[in-house]
Amino acid sequence: MAIVSAEKFVKAARDNGYAIGGFNTNNLEWTQAILRAAEAKKTPVLIQTSMGAAKYMGGYKLCKDLITDLVESMGITVPVAIHLDHGNYEAALECIEVGYSSLMFDGSALPIEENLEKAEDVIAKAHAKGISVECEVGTIGGEEDGIVGDGELAPVEDAVRMAALGVDFLAAGIGNIHGPYPANWKGLHLDHLEKLTDALPGVPLVLHGGSGIPDDQIRAAIKLGVAKVNVNTECQLAFCAAMREHVGVFNANEEEYMKKKLFDPRKFLKPGFDAITASVEERIDVFGSANKA
Ligand SMILES: [Zn+2]
Repeated sequence: MAIVSAEKFVKAARDNGYAIGGFNTNNLEWTQAILRAAEAKKTPVLIQTSMGAAKYMGGYKLCKDLITDLVESMGITVPVAIHLDHGNYEAALECIEVGYSSLMFDGSALPIEENLEKAEDVIAKAHAKGISVECEVGTIGGEEDGIVGDGELAPVEDAVRMAALGVDFLAAGIGNIHGPYPANWKGLHLDHLEKLTDALPGVPLVLHGGSGIPDDQIRAAIKLGVAKVNVNTECQLAFCAAMREHVGVFNANEEEYMKKKLFDPRKFLKPGFDAITASVEERIDVFGSANKA
Protein backbone atom coordinates (compact mmCIF):
# COMPACT_ATOMS: atom_id res chain seq x y z
CA MET A 1 0.00 0.00 0.00
CA ALA A 2 1.16 3.51 -0.67
CA ILE A 3 1.85 6.02 2.06
CA VAL A 4 -1.37 7.34 3.60
CA SER A 5 -2.42 10.02 6.06
CA ALA A 6 -3.29 8.76 9.51
CA GLU A 7 -6.68 10.26 10.40
CA LYS A 8 -8.79 7.38 9.05
CA PHE A 9 -6.97 4.55 10.78
CA VAL A 10 -6.52 6.48 14.03
CA LYS A 11 -10.23 7.35 14.09
CA ALA A 12 -11.09 3.70 13.41
CA ALA A 13 -8.93 2.79 16.40
CA ARG A 14 -10.72 5.38 18.56
CA ASP A 15 -14.12 4.09 17.49
CA ASN A 16 -13.23 0.46 18.07
CA GLY A 17 -11.24 0.59 21.29
CA TYR A 18 -7.65 -0.04 20.28
CA ALA A 19 -4.64 2.16 19.54
CA ILE A 20 -2.16 2.58 16.70
CA GLY A 21 1.54 2.74 17.50
CA GLY A 22 3.53 5.80 16.48
CA PHE A 23 7.08 4.50 16.36
CA ASN A 24 10.04 6.86 16.09
CA THR A 25 12.80 5.93 13.69
CA ASN A 26 16.45 6.89 13.82
CA ASN A 27 18.02 5.35 10.72
CA LEU A 28 17.61 2.98 7.80
CA GLU A 29 17.60 -0.30 9.70
CA TRP A 30 15.36 1.16 12.42
CA THR A 31 12.80 1.99 9.75
CA GLN A 32 13.05 -1.50 8.26
CA ALA A 33 12.60 -3.02 11.73
CA ILE A 34 9.37 -1.05 12.34
CA LEU A 35 8.01 -1.85 8.87
CA ARG A 36 8.79 -5.56 9.29
CA ALA A 37 6.93 -5.65 12.60
CA ALA A 38 3.90 -3.75 11.27
CA GLU A 39 3.66 -6.02 8.25
CA ALA A 40 4.00 -9.17 10.37
CA LYS A 41 1.25 -7.93 12.70
CA LYS A 42 -0.97 -6.62 9.89
CA THR A 43 -1.40 -3.27 11.58
CA PRO A 44 -1.52 0.30 10.32
CA VAL A 45 1.46 2.23 11.64
CA LEU A 46 2.95 5.69 11.90
CA ILE A 47 6.68 5.97 11.37
CA GLN A 48 7.76 9.14 13.09
CA THR A 49 10.79 11.37 12.99
CA SER A 50 11.51 13.95 15.64
CA MET A 51 13.15 17.12 14.36
CA GLY A 52 16.44 15.89 15.81
CA ALA A 53 16.21 12.45 14.21
CA ALA A 54 15.37 13.98 10.82
CA LYS A 55 18.40 16.25 11.10
CA TYR A 56 20.55 13.27 12.10
CA MET A 57 19.31 11.23 9.14
CA GLY A 58 19.85 13.95 6.55
CA GLY A 59 16.68 16.03 6.52
CA TYR A 60 12.92 15.64 6.09
CA LYS A 61 13.04 14.94 2.39
CA LEU A 62 15.48 12.11 2.90
CA CYS A 63 13.28 10.63 5.65
CA LYS A 64 10.18 10.88 3.48
CA ASP A 65 11.95 9.31 0.49
CA LEU A 66 13.55 6.60 2.63
CA ILE A 67 10.27 5.48 4.19
CA THR A 68 8.39 5.72 0.89
CA ASP A 69 11.02 3.69 -0.97
CA LEU A 70 11.27 1.05 1.76
CA VAL A 71 7.49 0.58 1.77
CA GLU A 72 7.77 -0.15 -1.93
CA SER A 73 10.93 -2.28 -1.96
CA MET A 74 9.86 -4.31 1.08
CA GLY A 75 6.44 -4.94 -0.45
CA ILE A 76 4.66 -3.51 2.59
CA THR A 77 0.89 -3.92 2.31
CA VAL A 78 -0.28 -2.28 5.57
CA PRO A 79 -1.14 1.46 5.72
CA VAL A 80 1.92 3.52 6.68
CA ALA A 81 1.88 7.20 7.62
CA ILE A 82 5.06 9.30 7.59
CA HIS A 83 4.68 11.50 10.65
CA LEU A 84 6.61 14.43 12.11
CA ASP A 85 6.86 14.09 15.89
CA HIS A 86 6.92 17.28 18.03
CA GLY A 87 7.50 19.65 15.15
CA ASN A 88 7.72 23.37 15.71
CA TYR A 89 5.87 25.70 13.32
CA GLU A 90 8.72 25.88 10.79
CA ALA A 91 9.27 22.12 10.79
CA ALA A 92 5.55 21.50 10.29
CA LEU A 93 5.49 23.77 7.24
CA GLU A 94 8.62 22.12 5.85
CA CYS A 95 7.10 18.64 6.22
CA ILE A 96 3.95 19.80 4.43
CA GLU A 97 6.18 20.99 1.59
CA VAL A 98 8.31 17.84 1.53
CA GLY A 99 5.34 15.48 1.48
CA TYR A 100 5.01 13.90 4.93
CA SER A 101 1.55 12.35 5.15
CA SER A 102 1.01 13.29 8.80
CA LEU A 103 2.51 15.70 11.29
CA MET A 104 2.45 16.92 14.83
CA PHE A 105 2.62 20.63 15.42
CA ASP A 106 3.79 21.04 19.01
CA GLY A 107 3.06 24.56 20.18
CA SER A 108 2.72 23.49 23.80
CA ALA A 109 5.65 25.66 24.88
CA LEU A 110 3.88 28.74 23.47
CA PRO A 111 1.16 30.75 25.21
CA ILE A 112 -2.15 28.99 24.48
CA GLU A 113 -3.47 31.76 22.20
CA GLU A 114 -0.36 31.56 20.03
CA ASN A 115 -0.46 27.75 20.09
CA LEU A 116 -4.07 27.84 18.82
CA GLU A 117 -3.34 30.49 16.21
CA LYS A 118 -0.37 28.60 14.73
CA ALA A 119 -2.23 25.27 14.98
CA GLU A 120 -5.12 26.68 12.97
CA ASP A 121 -2.73 27.82 10.26
CA VAL A 122 -0.88 24.46 10.16
CA ILE A 123 -4.16 22.51 10.08
CA ALA A 124 -5.46 24.58 7.14
CA LYS A 125 -2.26 24.14 5.15
CA ALA A 126 -1.91 20.44 5.97
CA HIS A 127 -5.54 19.53 5.33
CA ALA A 128 -5.41 21.30 1.99
CA LYS A 129 -2.90 18.60 1.01
CA GLY A 130 -4.66 15.72 2.75
CA ILE A 131 -2.11 15.55 5.58
CA SER A 132 -3.32 14.57 9.05
CA VAL A 133 -2.45 16.80 12.01
CA GLU A 134 -1.78 16.17 15.68
CA CYS A 135 -1.48 19.08 18.11
CA GLU A 136 -0.67 19.33 21.78
CA VAL A 137 -2.11 21.22 24.71
CA GLY A 138 -0.47 21.33 28.11
CA THR A 139 3.01 19.89 28.24
CA ILE A 140 4.25 16.34 28.49
CA GLY A 141 6.88 15.80 31.14
CA GLY A 142 10.44 14.74 30.56
CA GLU A 143 12.80 15.74 27.82
CA GLU A 144 12.64 15.04 24.09
CA ASP A 145 15.06 16.73 21.73
CA GLY A 146 15.47 19.65 24.06
CA ILE A 147 11.75 20.18 24.64
CA VAL A 148 11.30 19.97 28.38
CA GLY A 149 7.97 19.76 30.14
CA ASP A 150 7.01 19.30 33.77
CA GLY A 151 4.15 16.87 33.26
CA GLU A 152 1.16 19.07 33.94
CA LEU A 153 -2.36 17.82 33.27
CA ALA A 154 -3.67 19.41 30.07
CA PRO A 155 -6.42 21.95 30.79
CA VAL A 156 -9.71 20.56 29.47
CA GLU A 157 -10.85 23.93 28.11
CA ASP A 158 -7.64 24.25 26.06
CA ALA A 159 -8.16 20.75 24.67
CA VAL A 160 -11.72 21.60 23.65
CA ARG A 161 -10.57 24.77 21.87
CA MET A 162 -7.81 22.88 20.06
CA ALA A 163 -10.16 20.07 19.00
CA ALA A 164 -12.60 22.64 17.63
CA LEU A 165 -9.95 23.68 15.10
CA GLY A 166 -10.35 20.32 13.40
CA VAL A 167 -7.22 18.62 14.69
CA ASP A 168 -7.20 14.93 13.72
CA PHE A 169 -5.76 13.65 16.98
CA LEU A 170 -4.75 15.42 20.13
CA ALA A 171 -1.88 15.01 22.56
CA ALA A 172 -2.85 16.06 26.06
CA GLY A 173 -0.77 15.45 29.17
CA ILE A 174 -2.22 13.09 31.75
CA GLY A 175 0.88 12.66 33.89
CA ASN A 176 2.86 10.85 31.17
CA ILE A 177 6.48 11.80 30.53
CA HIS A 178 9.10 11.23 27.84
CA GLY A 179 12.05 8.95 28.41
CA PRO A 180 12.50 6.34 31.15
CA TYR A 181 10.06 6.76 34.04
CA PRO A 182 11.52 7.63 37.45
CA ALA A 183 10.90 5.25 40.36
CA ASN A 184 8.69 7.80 42.12
CA TRP A 185 6.37 8.34 39.12
CA LYS A 186 2.75 8.43 40.26
CA GLY A 187 1.17 6.77 37.21
CA LEU A 188 -1.25 8.03 34.59
CA HIS A 189 -4.06 10.29 35.77
CA LEU A 190 -6.87 8.24 34.26
CA ASP A 191 -9.45 10.40 36.02
CA HIS A 192 -8.14 13.40 34.07
CA LEU A 193 -8.19 11.38 30.84
CA GLU A 194 -11.85 10.64 31.50
CA LYS A 195 -12.59 14.37 31.88
CA LEU A 196 -10.85 15.00 28.54
CA THR A 197 -12.74 12.26 26.71
CA ASP A 198 -16.06 13.38 28.16
CA ALA A 199 -15.41 16.88 26.84
CA LEU A 200 -14.13 15.59 23.47
CA PRO A 201 -16.47 12.82 22.34
CA GLY A 202 -14.96 10.78 19.53
CA VAL A 203 -11.70 12.74 19.34
CA PRO A 204 -8.71 10.37 19.25
CA LEU A 205 -6.20 11.20 21.99
CA VAL A 206 -2.49 10.52 21.80
CA LEU A 207 -0.43 9.10 24.63
CA HIS A 208 3.16 10.29 24.45
CA GLY A 209 5.98 8.78 26.44
CA GLY A 210 4.45 5.34 25.99
CA SER A 211 7.72 3.61 26.90
CA GLY A 212 7.75 2.33 30.43
CA ILE A 213 4.10 2.90 31.36
CA PRO A 214 2.79 -0.38 32.83
CA ASP A 215 0.73 -2.26 30.23
CA ASP A 216 -2.41 -2.34 32.37
CA GLN A 217 -2.37 1.48 32.54
CA ILE A 218 -1.86 1.71 28.77
CA ARG A 219 -4.80 -0.63 28.17
CA ALA A 220 -6.95 1.38 30.58
CA ALA A 221 -6.02 4.61 28.77
CA ILE A 222 -6.91 3.05 25.40
CA LYS A 223 -10.32 2.06 26.78
CA LEU A 224 -10.79 5.70 27.78
CA GLY A 225 -10.08 7.21 24.35
CA VAL A 226 -6.35 7.00 23.63
CA ALA A 227 -6.06 5.89 19.98
CA LYS A 228 -2.36 6.53 19.26
CA VAL A 229 0.55 5.64 21.52
CA ASN A 230 4.03 6.99 20.82
CA VAL A 231 6.99 4.71 21.34
CA ASN A 232 10.60 5.81 21.13
CA THR A 233 12.64 5.12 24.25
CA GLU A 234 11.44 1.52 24.46
CA CYS A 235 12.97 0.64 21.09
CA GLN A 236 16.17 2.49 21.94
CA LEU A 237 16.52 0.53 25.17
CA ALA A 238 15.78 -2.78 23.39
CA PHE A 239 18.44 -1.98 20.78
CA CYS A 240 20.96 -1.00 23.43
CA ALA A 241 20.35 -4.07 25.60
CA ALA A 242 20.66 -6.45 22.66
CA MET A 243 23.86 -4.79 21.44
CA ARG A 244 25.46 -4.78 24.89
CA GLU A 245 24.80 -8.49 25.14
CA HIS A 246 26.00 -9.11 21.60
CA VAL A 247 29.27 -7.26 22.18
CA GLY A 248 29.93 -9.54 25.14
CA VAL A 249 29.33 -12.64 23.03
CA PHE A 250 31.45 -11.20 20.24
CA ASN A 251 34.34 -10.51 22.58
CA ALA A 252 34.16 -14.00 24.03
CA ASN A 253 34.30 -15.52 20.53
CA GLU A 254 36.59 -12.98 18.94
CA GLU A 255 38.73 -15.26 16.80
CA GLU A 256 35.82 -17.19 15.31
CA TYR A 257 33.65 -14.10 14.75
CA MET A 258 36.48 -12.18 13.05
CA LYS A 259 37.12 -15.14 10.77
CA LYS A 260 33.41 -15.23 9.86
CA LYS A 261 33.59 -11.47 9.17
CA LEU A 262 30.86 -10.77 11.68
CA PHE A 263 32.43 -7.32 12.08
CA ASP A 264 30.52 -6.33 8.93
CA PRO A 265 28.01 -3.76 10.29
CA ARG A 266 25.21 -5.47 8.36
CA LYS A 267 25.84 -8.51 10.55
CA PHE A 268 27.27 -6.86 13.66
CA LEU A 269 24.23 -4.63 14.28
CA LYS A 270 21.60 -7.23 13.38
CA PRO A 271 20.80 -8.36 16.93
CA GLY A 272 20.00 -4.76 17.87
CA PHE A 273 17.59 -4.26 15.01
CA ASP A 274 15.98 -7.68 15.52
CA ALA A 275 15.34 -6.56 19.10
CA ILE A 276 13.56 -3.44 17.80
CA THR A 277 11.29 -5.56 15.59
CA ALA A 278 10.45 -7.78 18.56
CA SER A 279 9.81 -4.76 20.74
CA VAL A 280 7.51 -3.12 18.15
CA GLU A 281 5.57 -6.37 17.66
CA GLU A 282 5.11 -6.72 21.41
CA ARG A 283 3.81 -3.13 21.69
CA ILE A 284 1.37 -3.70 18.81
CA ASP A 285 -0.10 -6.64 20.72
CA VAL A 286 -0.56 -4.50 23.83
CA PHE A 287 -2.17 -1.70 21.79
CA GLY A 288 -4.58 -4.20 20.22
CA SER A 289 -4.02 -3.10 16.61
CA ALA A 290 -2.84 -6.44 15.18
CA ASN A 291 -4.93 -7.58 12.19
CA LYS A 292 -6.60 -4.14 11.90
CA ALA A 293 -4.86 -3.17 8.65
ZN1 LIG B 1 6.14 13.07 22.61
